[in-house]
Amino acid sequence: MRKPQRLPQPTLDEYEWQDRASCRSVPVAVFFQSENARGGVRAAGEEAAKRVCRVCPVIAQCRVHAIAAEDYGVWGGLTALERAAIRDQPAAAGAGRSLRRGAA
Ligand code: SF4
Repeated sequence: MRKPQRLPQPTLDEYEWQDRASCRSVPVAVFFQSENARGGVRAAGEEAAKRVCRVCPVIAQCRVHAIAAEDYGVWGGLTALERAAIRDQPAAAGAGRSLRRGAA
């Protein structure tokens, strides 16, 4: 479940990077695998999303946002599990707190 308290303030400055996102022209289903997808099917789906992210001009901004605030799907070239693993690292937890305060 998304945790709104982790999202940055809804200001234009915080989200304008999304206007330049490569995924704007890609179906959202590419980034959010079915809950029933497992094994090779899930890996292939996640890899398809990561291919879009690899050429995205805002991957750095997206990754910071996603590590702090997104629990599902591929964001910033990372799966939900990969982001959760990063969150569990002490240095990343500090970065997330900064974003939540709006300090990015
Ligand atoms: S890095 Fe991936 S999920 Fe993030 S904005 Fe770019 S294409 Fe979309």
